[in-house]
Amino acid sequence: MVELLQLTPELQGIGFTSQRTRNRMVDRLAQSGISHPHVLEALRQLPRHLFVDEALAHRAYEDTALPIGLGQTLSQPYIVARMTELLLEAKPQKVLEIGTGSGFQCALLACLIPDVHSIERLEPLLEKARQRLKDLGLKNAQVSHGDGQLGLTSHAPFDGILVTAAPKDIPYELTEQLNEGGRLILPLGDEVQTLCVLDKKDGKLVRQDMEPVRFVPLLPGAC
Ligand code: SAH
Repeated sequence: MVELLQLTPELQGIGFTSQRTRNRMVDRLAQSGISHPHVLEALRQLPRHLFVDEALAHRAYEDTALPIGLGQTLSQPYIVARMTELLLEAKPQKVLEIGTGSGFQCALLACLIPDVHSIERLEPLLEKARQRLKDLGLKNAQVSHGDGQLGLTSHAPFDGILVTAAPKDIPYELTEQLNEGGRLILPLGDEVQTLCVLDKKDGKLVRQDMEPVRFVPLLPGAC
């Protein structure tokens, strides 16, 4: 695990954003079946309240998705933890996240994986996320502006790719940018979505369908 952040009292927060509140969220996640000790430990330390608007900070440690502006959402902690656990099973050293959003999932990955890239199509969200990652000193996370459906050719290939917006079909470019032995995780579908895990073995993709999920759609282009 990458050295975890030493949070200043200011970043750690007070009151509803206190360590005790975070611990309670992590205990609930463990009861819901999240078991990877490094994922739980990183979530114990990451200040999720800094990834939403101040007016929503008091809800940051509920197991719920929260709006982050421009019609987008920060996923509920359970699904962030679940996808991260699934990704870690592939023991990745270098990963790509599609859909930076608030930057929270990216920050969690950066606590656990040495080389993290994330791409976002909406520039205003990206700028805020970049600042949050900088404030937390997560130097191993790099964010880029662009259409994540096309992956990130400048840094490919990756050992893991995590998609946090739902495409109707598996984006071909992402499968091409996955290393042998690598794992691609994505919510797949339109109204009804399934969390899919695809492992590249001998150049072929082996698919497992996990639980039903609900993500915002993966949209084309960048603005
Ligand atoms: N992982 C984020 C939440 C994701 S919400 C977090 O931790 O906060 C989904 C995000 O995917 C949105 O910010 C949306 O703008 C972005 N998105 C949708 N289609 C995209 C695309 N083609 N390329 C990059 N980002 C995309």
